[in-house]
Amino acid sequence: MSLPAPPLDPRPRRRPDLVALEGYHSPQVDVAVRLNTNESPYPPPAAWAEAVAEEVAGVEWHRYPDRQARRLRSALAELHGVAPEQVYVANGSNEVIQALCLAYGGRGRAVGVFEPTYRLHSHIPSITGTSVATGARSAELSLDLDEVRRVVAEVEPALTFLCSPNNPTGMLDPPEAVAEVAATSAGLVVVDEAYAEFSPWSALELVDDDRALVVTRTFSKTWSMAGARLGYLVGPAWVVEDLSAVTLPYHLDAFKQAAGRLALRFEDDMRRRVSAVVAERARLVAGLGTLAVRQWPSAANFVLFRPVDADGSTVWQGLVERGVLVRDCSSWPGLDGCLRVTVGTPEEDDAFLGALGEVLT
Ligand SMILES: *Cc1c(COP(=O)(O)O)cnc(C)c1O
Repeated sequence: MSLPAPPLDPRPRRRPDLVALEGYHSPQVDVAVRLNTNESPYPPPAAWAEAVAEEVAGVEWHRYPDRQARRLRSALAELHGVAPEQVYVANGSNEVIQALCLAYGGRGRAVGVFEPTYRLHSHIPSITGTSVATGARSAELSLDLDEVRRVVAEVEPALTFLCSPNNPTGMLDPPEAVAEVAATSAGLVVVDEAYAEFSPWSALELVDDDRALVVTRTFSKTWSMAGARLGYLVGPAWVVEDLSAVTLPYHLDAFKQAAGRLALRFEDDMRRRVSAVVAERARLVAGLGTLAVRQWPSAANFVLFRPVDADGSTVWQGLVERGVLVRDCSSWPGLDGCLRVTVGTPEEDDAFLGALGEVLT
């Protein structure tokens, strides 16, 4: 018996709308001081790790985990004073965004984003076949409500992404602006609050079953748990129901459900770490103020700045040569020459400020 000859090129072709799409990368360089991905400089408390170890010893590994993640969702609901039915959990807030795009985006639908902002807000829609309508922020990089109205009128986005505090600018959207966007938008407004605990207000106060607005949060930054990959959404119960329709069965493993639930017992530790980072941010901002850079006001755990008389990527390279890694945003649209530095420990920030001073002179 002879088998049919294989085709000349046996490789299947990628979906045509993905051919031009590059993966999302945050360049990593092996240096001593890494201030490029907005992680917490401090680990979670040892008592949390012990509690997780104890809990994990009792996991029935031969059984599927609780598909609804009921205990974790109840604990989060209690933390925020909402009902468990208003909480959706996933493997990082990026997966929450993906679920939103799967449920509400797709062919023939659009999302609205306001650049410069978090790049995954346009990348994830593209992966899910959702088109992206882009509006611009103002010259000062704040949210421009006229641009929001223009994009909403032009494409009626199924999802309108806000990011407050905004990554990579650090700037906070005022409550009136977010409420206005919610009142104007045709579809669902998504407020990405990855950094909310560092900032003075949260759109959680706007969450209501009668308002098409959701807030996304993550354990990656303030909870010092980037390694756990856990994020969630707080919003109307009908959104949570829509999201469960596109969620894979048992997507959240037993380990992660326990790790997240137990973390909430250490909320005081989290708040102390956040206060320390906010105090350190003020010191970093003051240090930057003595150097030849322009910087933007930050309500997060990072600061966007632009060397006044030097090329951004040259400065980035000079910092790497001195053992300090920051994020090079200098070629991103609207961020000509800009770099973003994460608030680290006082020692790390001193190393950064010292290196930057050298590079700039
Ligand atoms: C870091 C970050 C996240 C976190 O995503 P995870 O998948 O939860 O790690 C989400 N949104 C923004 C704007 C971020 O900067």
